[in-house]
Amino acid sequence: MAHTPRKRFGQNFLIDDQVINQIISTIAPKTDDNIIEIGPGKGALTFPIAEYLDHLNVIEIDHDLISILNAQNNNNITIFNADALTFDFNHFPTNMRIIGNLPYNISSPLLFHLLNYRENIIDMTFMLQKEVVDRIVATPGTKTYGRISVVIQAFFDTELMFIVPRKSFNPQPKIESAILYLKTKSVPLVQNLKPLEEIVKLAFSQRRKTLKNCLKSVLDQSQTQIDLSQRAEMLSLDNFVTLMNDYEKQYRN
Ligand code: SAM
Repeated sequence: MAHTPRKRFGQNFLIDDQVINQIISTIAPKTDDNIIEIGPGKGALTFPIAEYLDHLNVIEIDHDLISILNAQNNNNITIFNADALTFDFNHFPTNMRIIGNLPYNISSPLLFHLLNYRENIIDMTFMLQKEVVDRIVATPGTKTYGRISVVIQAFFDTELMFIVPRKSFNPQPKIESAILYLKTKSVPLVQNLKPLEEIVKLAFSQRRKTLKNCLKSVLDQSQTQIDLSQRAEMLSLDNFVTLMNDYEKQYRN
């Protein structure tokens, strides 16, 4: 069955067996795992991993790939022809392990969508643009440390597992990729996503300016112990939690 890769769906199909095996080793699937794959494509990862599992759920947006997937399905794969960005993951049991070679154009919004289901997620293993992985795992004081590092690390332990060269795909993407492993923290740094997102977004809204400047519409120095003469990139995760608590105190009630 011929299928022309679609740019708008970020279709770069894996063609490298060694990389596929490395991804499966990272996931280390167990028979009764509740694995959900986002964007199975033509099944490069789907069929090898399904061999380890009693059952696998996959979500694929491109209707034309569904028949390709169905042709090889040994009945242990349930295929949802849907958009993962709006998909209600409460549909699945509460011990989700989510995986996927993600379409690069939706990787950030998809991660933010999945954050809503974090309490039901054990871990996530994703292929992403290396540049996005670098930002997610970044530490304070570095250029890549920003909004996505703080928000994701508040809820997940993060690790860049390995880099995947462009030649492992067809068609080849313009940029390097990497495998990111996210393990849900047993105790998240904060309970609520919304106030953290709000304060982090404001704090990083003008990277070169001080926090005093970025936060002037919501918080002044008398309302927090965090030194607002610093720039956001200098703040540790714990500092951001303090800042969020001080911000919330102003707006509670
Ligand atoms: N997993 C396959 C592989 O490794 O060869 C395909 C990976 S390709 C980078 C991304 C896949 O995600 C494509 O199959 C694409 O159609 C699918 N996709 C794109 N946007 C999607 C969305 N919003 N929801 C679900 N699947 C999507």
